Amino acid sequence: MNETLRGLIETLAERRRLLLEEYERLIRERTPDAAELLASLAVKERKRIYGDAVYTRGLLEISNICKNDCLYCGIRKSNTHCERYRLTPEQIVSCAAEGYALGFRTFVLQGGEDAYFTDGVLCGVVTEIKSRFPDCAVTLSMGERSRESYQRLFDAGADRYLLRHETADMAHYQKLHPPEMSFENRMRCLYDLREIGYQVGCGFMVGSPYQTEKELAQDLKFIETFRPDMCGIGPFIPHKNTPFRDFPAGTLELTCYLLSIIRLIYPSVLLPATTALGTIHPLGRERGIQAGANVVMPNLSPVSVRKQYELYDGKICTGEESAQCRGCLQRRMDAVGYRIVTDRGDIRKDTG
Ligand code: SAH
Repeated sequence: MNETLRGLIETLAERRRLLLEEYERLIRERTPDAAELLASLAVKERKRIYGDAVYTRGLLEISNICKNDCLYCGIRKSNTHCERYRLTPEQIVSCAAEGYALGFRTFVLQGGEDAYFTDGVLCGVVTEIKSRFPDCAVTLSMGERSRESYQRLFDAGADRYLLRHETADMAHYQKLHPPEMSFENRMRCLYDLREIGYQVGCGFMVGSPYQTEKELAQDLKFIETFRPDMCGIGPFIPHKNTPFRDFPAGTLELTCYLLSIIRLIYPSVLLPATTALGTIHPLGRERGIQAGANVVMPNLSPVSVRKQYELYDGKICTGEESAQCRGCLQRRMDAVGYRIVTDRGDIRKDTG
């Protein structure tokens, strides 16, 4: 690698920030040995704060009904080939109970923007899970809602909220979304969630259509300034029934490179090795952990609906029971020298 690149990596590791143009350069001029250096520094930071522990979250895909029409997403409303489903509150709670017995202490309720899940319904589910399993954290990932709605859900006991910003560049945001969605509202949601007191997760897809190093640099700058508690990044993968069907998927290589950079920007951030990463490569999630990620999210949804929550083509983990999913990830993490732990997995303070 050239001296400039090495210099940028050293500055990043020391100061935890770079200029926008420097992030751009770090991405554009990347080489395999730069990736290796970043990964080793990232793993060192992660070990310093989290040791060899990998946190686990039980993912419950509660509905694929969505009023939005995001151009990349397989469950967008215009996809008439998508067979729609939603879980009942009873089903959601019973999946959580199954997950609890398997050792999960965090549940992530994710879904499309489905009008059925009013504040009343969703608060009921959150309250029920929190009262039956008081030692668990509940994370919601149900898209954009009003501030009042986020407040009610928080008051009902929700601890965390995941809402990927998708891209930190406004013009790029518009290319990925229909005109009725806006970058301003997405950002408004993230800042409201933070102010209300949630632990907040943002994130973006790697290799989304029209994304260049410039947009990725903006994503990194956003993460550096917003300092989310969690950051979900995974490769974009085309879905056959979307307008983006012919765009290429993001790569394992660039996703891992960015995971390492994000770990160095914010050493204690919770960083999942996502299902999308496991989808583009058989060892994608392991590689993600080896690049600096520290969270995995096994699927706890009922097997009968898993195939229907198809955000992108070829999504893995759709055929197995929850216990198998957990066991599979446990073995995968063991194989690369990490240990899945069963606690809530809250963000740790960086005392170094
Ligand atoms: N409705 C919720 C949950 C969306 S699904 C919300 O708006 O937050 C969760 C994430 O999956 C999205 O934020 C998006 O980044 C990712 N995703 C959607 N389609 C994808 C695709 N084709 N490839 C990779 N990731 C995708």
